[in-house]
Amino acid sequence: MARPVFPFAAIVGQEDMKRAILIAAVDQAIGGVLVFGDRGTGKSTTVRALAALLPPMKVNQGCRYACDPAAPDTWCADCQAAEGKLKTVSAPVPVVDLPLGATEDRVVGALDLERALTGSKVFEPGLLARANRGFLYIDEANLLEDHLVDLLLDVAASGENVVEREGLSIRHPARFVLIGSGNPEEGELRPQLLDRFGLSVEVRTPQDLPTRIDVIKRRDAFERDPAGFAEAWKKPQDKLRRRIVDAKARLPKTETPDSALESAARLCMKLGTDGLRGELTLIRAARAVAAFEGDPIVTDAHLKTVAPMVLGHRLRRNPLDEAAAGTRVNRAVTELFGA
Ligand SMILES: [Zn+2]
Repeated sequence: MARPVFPFAAIVGQEDMKRAILIAAVDQAIGGVLVFGDRGTGKSTTVRALAALLPPMKVNQGCRYACDPAAPDTWCADCQAAEGKLKTVSAPVPVVDLPLGATEDRVVGALDLERALTGSKVFEPGLLARANRGFLYIDEANLLEDHLVDLLLDVAASGENVVEREGLSIRHPARFVLIGSGNPEEGELRPQLLDRFGLSVEVRTPQDLPTRIDVIKRRDAFERDPAGFAEAWKKPQDKLRRRIVDAKARLPKTETPDSALESAARLCMKLGTDGLRGELTLIRAARAVAAFEGDPIVTDAHLKTVAPMVLGHRLRRNPLDEAAAGTRVNRAVTELFGA
């Protein structure tokens, strides 16, 4: 058995990041999560913990893209060709690391033109294939070349990876949540890219003593006895897993009344965010939170919870208002909805 991963339920603090990641787990179409913060704040631990938290998914056996047996309209060409003969098996939800030096071929997959002439299998799937239906994690996304970030966001939005070389074309499903971490001191993402991430949160090293002691205590206990620690946290971990599963099931039935749409539009107008993407994401994220909390209807309270992580990175810089983006969002939220 693989070495246990630090349980998500045992992560101390980092509430914004945990919430953003749980929202993405409930609604994978949220558009990716950007996590800013210092090194050593547990960003990658949290992402890996999510993978271990999510229940296994059903896949078509042997499929290189882990196609979903329940969604034939999203199947790859191989699964479509084998329809009726496919077996269903369980597989863990993938969380794939995208290393900074990765070539485009490694990311999107490689087409072997010489083998194409002999008629054998010509496509070598890349990281996007492995990430299908899961998460693609880029540590220090701000150091990745812009064109690669662009490409990843395009594929994540369309849910399909298309590779074309000299008249040959391959397409396969690639639905994943992009999670990018970044250290703002090491270069910024272009604003055009920033705005294409659904959610953005900041993580900091905890500054109060009790939290820091808790972090070290749990980390130390885990490192001395990973299996024992995982066992001790099994109950809260199972509970959280059930909440995600329930929230996913509830999501399509969660109501979004016109009053919530109006509140979202008012907030975006007040902050002067460009385009409709902010409003749409605000509604989606609020709906995911409502589903997670077990509330049947989206209210201003849900909008309030998600507003900073949805809108903070979409604000244009205002030279007359130097307050940090998060503060500006919170101020607008208070003015509109009260404290
Ligand atoms: Zn398939």
